[in-house]
This record gives sequence, C-alpha cells and structure tokens, in this order.
Amino acid sequence: MLTRVKKIILDLLFPISCLGCGRDKIWLCGNCQSKIPVLEEFFCPVCSRPALRGQTHDQCRRGSSLDGIFIAGDWRNKLLRKIIHRFKYNFIQDLKTPLGKLLIEKLEQADNFFVPALSERYFEAIVPIPLFSRRELWRGFNQAELLGRAVGEFLLIPVLASAVKRIKNTKTQVGKNQKARAKNMLGAFVPGLEISAVKGKKILIVDDVVTTAETMAAVAKVLKSAGASEVWGLCLARG
Ligand SMILES: [Zn+2]
Ligand SMILES: [Zn+2]
Repeated sequence: MLTRVKKIILDLLFPISCLGCGRDKIWLCGNCQSKIPVLEEFFCPVCSRPALRGQTHDQCRRGSSLDGIFIAGDWRNKLLRKIIHRFKYNFIQDLKTPLGKLLIEKLEQADNFFVPALSERYFEAIVPIPLFSRRELWRGFNQAELLGRAVGEFLLIPVLASAVKRIKNTKTQVGKNQKARAKNMLGAFVPGLEISAVKGKKILIVDDVVTTAETMAAVAKVLKSAGASEVWGLCLARG
C-alpha cells in the first residue's frame, strides 16, 4: 500500500511521458524523435542569410571571430520548442540525449563537407558556452555543457568546459540593437583554466538556443586570441 502511494505521488510530481505523444515512461519516444527533422539549410552566423555549410560570409567576417555555425533544428517546430523549454526551464536533464542526438546528426551532415571519410573528425575539442557561475549554482547544471558532453562522448573528443569563463551575466539581450548587444558582450568572457588546450586546435562551441551570434562570437574571440585555429558554433536552434 505504502509503495503504491509513494509511486502515485512520485508520478504526480515527475510524470515521465513522451512530450510528443504522451506515451509512458520515456521523455521522447523514437517515433516522436524522428519527427524532429535536422534543419537542412545552412546560415551565416553574422547576417543569418543562407551560406555554404554555415560558413561566415567573407563580407561578414570583419568583427567576428566565428568561422561558421551549424543550426541543428528548426525553432518553428513546436515539439522541439517544447523539449528545449523542458530541458532548460524544467531542468529535465535526461532530455540531453535526444537533443544531443539532433546536434550529432547536424554535425554529421556538416562533416561531409569537411572530411572525405566519416571516420575522420574535423573538430578536435568542444567548448560549451559557460554560464555565469551564480546562475549555474542556482540551476544546478549548465545546459550547454550537458549538450557539449553528449556530443563530445559521441565524437570522442575532449570537452573543455573551463577553457572560457563568464564573468558577466549577459543573458538579457532582447530588445537591444546589434551595437548595444556587442557592447554588452564585451568583456563578458575571459580565458579560463583550460585555455592553453585550445592552441592550434579546431574548436566547436556548443550552445542550446542562439538568439544572436554575439555570445558565440565573444567566446570565439577569446579562443582565437589563445591560438585556436578555427572556431565554429553548433546549436539546437536559432530562436
Ligand atoms: Zn512519442
Ligand atoms: Zn553573412
């Protein structure tokens, strides 16, 4: 009896069911996962217009240290938005697996452009966008790091979670124009403990939803200053 009551209470508090179809005991079933397509198109991180394999246009390079960006999913997809929301705001860490899978699929698509055989990997290390430490303490985890680790495990490349440190909380960029956002970002990131590990390497920055590329560009700047040879971004969606 007591066990049953306990189970009922637990199910009420944390009812695990597929966010797509409601099926029991799983956050996202295989069928619903397959309904979230990988975004086929590639866009320039600076101007958001279509760009070959997501590479920053030559004319957009000035002032951006980001070599390109891969956007894995389509923000207009309702189910994807719901999953990301639950992951970020309801702290359902298990969702890192289906979301990580989406990132990996996009990367495989992009890898085809870089390397002739898929057995070779283009990127050598992952840097998740760091949270401001107070925010991370409150949340208990950094969602970008969880995603970065899912991708790193799959690619068998190191995740340098302390390469860059965030010293300013700059999350609220909404309503600011490009110039103000870039200014707001200035000095938000500084080299961290693992910064020497990025020297000479091709780095992949991982984040969840990218509203503007300024955050990634600011992190890319720190990495390039430390000698990273290339810095690309990978995110779930452009929001
Ligand atoms: Zn389902
Ligand atoms: Zn551009």
